Amino acid sequence: MSGKIYIIGHKSPDLDSVAAAIAYAYFKNHIESADTYLPAIAGSVNKETEYALKRFNFDMPELINEISDKTVILVDHNEAIQSANGIEYAKISEIVDHHKVDFRNHEPIRIDIRPWGATSSIIADKFFDNKIGIEKDLAGLLLSAILVDTVIARSPTCTPVDVQILDKLAPVSGIQDWKEYGLELFKIKSSVNELGAAGIIGSDFKDFNFKQGKVGIGQVETVDLREFAEKEDEIMAELKNKRSAGGYLMVMLFITDIINEGSKFLVAADDYTKFEEAMGGKLENGKTYIEGIISRKKQVAPKFAELLDK
Ligand code: MN
Ligand code: MN
Repeated sequence: MSGKIYIIGHKSPDLDSVAAAIAYAYFKNHIESADTYLPAIAGSVNKETEYALKRFNFDMPELINEISDKTVILVDHNEAIQSANGIEYAKISEIVDHHKVDFRNHEPIRIDIRPWGATSSIIADKFFDNKIGIEKDLAGLLLSAILVDTVIARSPTCTPVDVQILDKLAPVSGIQDWKEYGLELFKIKSSVNELGAAGIIGSDFKDFNFKQGKVGIGQVETVDLREFAEKEDEIMAELKNKRSAGGYLMVMLFITDIINEGSKFLVAADDYTKFEEAMGGKLENGKTYIEGIISRKKQVAPKFAELLDK
């Protein structure tokens, strides 16, 4: 085993997972005057991540499909089901995250979980706390990740601390107006024209293991729901495939309109009543629009946990 420690986010990596891994590797190497820490990814990255890496001059982190023989720091997740394959055999040395805790380990490790809008906010705060300067490109990368994770500070997961950090990072990164830049990022994120149904569903997809079964929840954000209208049937068919192939109780994609702050749900399930009971919407052919719902972590996953974890 090499002496390297990989810093890695969840499967279907989003920008927060990737930016947090890159920034935290920099931070740890700096603090320890070492080159022990390497950022890694647990799958191929989405479009806005590719865009931000390029814009701020970062290399794509190493793709690692199997981590069983490695020492890792987990960022932006803590549940084994969301980790790269082999997590049950890996040595986990630390966690930095902003999700609910569902983690077991046989020895004590450092865990830093804060109820903030992005893991990248927590990492940025570590730089501020330790009075380590954040250079321009790293500030831009962290800023981008916080903007995406908090839906430009509109998500209910966004806290005043996240906004303070956005205000602090923007001038360092050379971005004048972070709200305007955020919209630019979401336009890239939601340009789905060249993506097939599987690509749309997979761009930000998470598994949740509840006592009554496994639920898969994908989310895409858009500035215009109409962009998805003609793809709905294709997406629906793919959700059904995914559900039977993966042994899910339910698989869904919700398409969030970030301007009007609501989401269109497309759901594959044998029995729609579970969804309806959890979310309160009435499904027609597996579809419904629910106003005010924009966060999987805060407004969707907890409702299914409440219903399906007993
Ligand atoms: Mn994430
Ligand atoms: Mn995150």
